Amino acid sequence: MVESSQRSDVLSHWHHPGVDVPTIVDGDGAYVTDADGRTYLDALSQLCCVNLGHSNDRIAAAMSEQLERVQFVSPGSHNDVRTELADRILAVGPERHSDVFFSVSGSEANEVAVHLARAMTDAPTVLTRYRSYHGTTLGTGTLGGDTATRTALSSTVGVPGSAKFLPPLSPEAFDVDDPDELADRAIAHLEFVIRNEGPDSIAALLTEVVGGSSGAYAPPPGYFERVRSLCDEYDILLVADEVLTGFGRCGEWFAHQTEGIEPDLMSFAKGVTSAHAPLAGVTVSEEIGSWVRREGVELGQTFGGHALSCSAGIAAIDEYDEWGLDAVNDVGPYLERRLRGVESDHDVVADVRGRGLLFGLPIVDPETGRPFVDPRVDAGENPVDAVADRMADEGVLTLPGRPSTQLILAPPFCVDRDDVDRVIEALEIGLEAVF
Ligand code: PLP
Repeated sequence: MVESSQRSDVLSHWHHPGVDVPTIVDGDGAYVTDADGRTYLDALSQLCCVNLGHSNDRIAAAMSEQLERVQFVSPGSHNDVRTELADRILAVGPERHSDVFFSVSGSEANEVAVHLARAMTDAPTVLTRYRSYHGTTLGTGTLGGDTATRTALSSTVGVPGSAKFLPPLSPEAFDVDDPDELADRAIAHLEFVIRNEGPDSIAALLTEVVGGSSGAYAPPPGYFERVRSLCDEYDILLVADEVLTGFGRCGEWFAHQTEGIEPDLMSFAKGVTSAHAPLAGVTVSEEIGSWVRREGVELGQTFGGHALSCSAGIAAIDEYDEWGLDAVNDVGPYLERRLRGVESDHDVVADVRGRGLLFGLPIVDPETGRPFVDPRVDAGENPVDAVADRMADEGVLTLPGRPSTQLILAPPFCVDRDDVDRVIEALEIGLEAVF
């Protein structure tokens, strides 16, 4: 039963249905405090948004200074902070990219990317992966390959032109452990899908580079170079969804940089302001940028590139530059090592996936050694929810992914090794209590 004080919040926002989430009233660095004064380590950075920690001083100061100066300039006018932030993002983003289109949310940014790709190629189809997440708007809900969103939206999904392919995910997709063989099979499968859909009908391939909420799985080495080659060969625009992985979460500014490839379009959101204000956008290659200017395409949203958000974004980039990215690469390997220890001590932890400060632990049924059936589809008991609940009792917040057969850990970059030890201790207690 939902308490009346929480009801309007629950009605207007998404909550994970199976986990008792606290009402957060305060935040500082990697920690948040609930209405009863209880403090928690925020081990999921509020859905992988608060990369630099809560209430960052530099970002807060930049925003209050902006508020004093001018709080909002519509997309119909130029604005100094919007232009400066665009330049700063382009300086750390894909090298051949020349333009940024700002939106408010990651879903909108993906819609803009797909809209541009379809309009430019005059082709209808967008390829996306099963086990992917791109948002919950009508378009992105159709494109995503996340069972929970698709099931919830099935009565309204109506945007045509999406085709799915299998991600390079072992063993759920290809049942092979060798990374080279996994990449071979995943690429052969993708080419099969492209040829059967008809390359001329395909506008774009939209993909996360490291899977986010759907499992934090990193691709096998070389996979993305071959995806890039297939896109070039068949004239398909490659759109990297870096909404969750961007701004250092996976160890570099953007996850595709580790793969040695450049997408044609890249969406971003969450970490751009370290969630101090809503902001999202798409960067595009010079070729697409010139086409947009030539055609006079207008895809902006009123609050896209809001001045307050842009001032937060500039300060956030300064923070990423000065300490953020170094911190991920310092503490990330320590977290991974400790998680590998948990994996070897607990049979129900099938693997440790991810990189940087983004990890997913697939939890398997101890009886069968296979993933649990997603309980939101099956309406059963979910032990992964129970582990997250027990961790919250120990003062560590995290959530299952989508599907909820795995636990996602993605703390803010300001955590230290003692914080990591605290996460591991809570995880051990949670696993032991439930299994
Ligand atoms: N793309 C990815 C990879 C995401 O993880 C998310 C949100 O979690 C989205 C898109 C949608 O972003 P938003 O919730 O801001 O619309």
